[in-house]
Amino acid sequence: MKSASRKINFNPGPAPLPQTVLEQAAAAVLDYDNSGQSILEIGHRSKAFDAILAESKQLVKELCGLGDDYEVLWLHGGGRLQFCMVPMNFLNEHDTAGYIDSGAWSHEAMEYARYYGHTTVLSSSRADNYRRLPEWPADIPKDLAYVHLTTNNTIYGTQWQQIPQCNAPLIADMSSDIFCCKRDYSKFDLFYAVAQKNIGAAGVTLVVLKRDMLKKIKRSIPPMLSYAEQVAKNSVLNTSPVFAIYTALLTLRWTKEKSVEAIEKENREKAALLYGELERNSLFIPLVDKDSRSMMNVCFSAMDETTQHVFTRYSEERNITGIEGHRSAGAFRASLYNAVSLRDVKALVDVMQEFEKQYQ
Ligand code: PLP
Repeated sequence: MKSASRKINFNPGPAPLPQTVLEQAAAAVLDYDNSGQSILEIGHRSKAFDAILAESKQLVKELCGLGDDYEVLWLHGGGRLQFCMVPMNFLNEHDTAGYIDSGAWSHEAMEYARYYGHTTVLSSSRADNYRRLPEWPADIPKDLAYVHLTTNNTIYGTQWQQIPQCNAPLIADMSSDIFCCKRDYSKFDLFYAVAQKNIGAAGVTLVVLKRDMLKKIKRSIPPMLSYAEQVAKNSVLNTSPVFAIYTALLTLRWTKEKSVEAIEKENREKAALLYGELERNSLFIPLVDKDSRSMMNVCFSAMDETTQHVFTRYSEERNITGIEGHRSAGAFRASLYNAVSLRDVKALVDVMQEFEKQYQ
């Protein structure tokens, strides 16, 4: 696939992957590592897959700066299954978990937890349609089973830049901003991220947890849904999504080669460029308060509905795709994940400027 024929893609996930990852994944579909087999035909209990699994887990630890007190899992079921597994494993019937309600995904995670135990909202920006981050809770009760946080709110375009220390086990959904910047991952007792944004292709979810957390599991849980069983079986309790994990490995190698520092620098430049244009351009409005803005998902609207429709068509005609807002939030959202280049963002800004000249 030639880059020239590629759309400039701002999809929120599944999202663009680095060109080299696509090329290597495509080659492996025809013949994996000169093995005479496609990656799609390789068994999940083969030596070849053992090596993929081991390297991918090692790379995750390396990129997160974590040691052997953490376990890395590749699981099925996406973000929503983690909304279930977290309380199923760690929230007993009479216990309470605290949720920071910063967006639709964190809210949904809390609703899933209510099937298993009690929940309390530690802070919320729901009343403001999640267009800003809530305050970090002043007093977090020590006896909470855990505190759940969504580090980046994909739908509303808000992101926690600083994460204060927490005196209860801290669990985070990092689906839409893992590896986007340097972060102290050791603050977290468990974090998870769907693959289809910064890690690879849909079909697998990364879970990283402190080994000590396993001791807290009291409930009897079917093996597939138990972190302890998944750790014991090295994530291969049933047939693994081999291709999705291989694509994740390729993306992790790309992330390491580029370095998270360099990725963060470019992510900050990309976000500054687009937010700067939104502040300047008379036809668009950024939707999120300055100090809550995400560098991964930039939400904005046009001055009015007609301009919105016209710009949607105008940008599509100029090879830009994926900027429509989430069905529940409307307007526009450009997702600037790690594989989106500064050049892609410049192309969008150019189109916005051209549009302003034509329609102002
Ligand atoms: N959490 C976050 C932050 C997300 O952005 C998403 C989806 O975009 C999810 C969870 C849900 O993931 P899934 O569709 O895999 O259940």
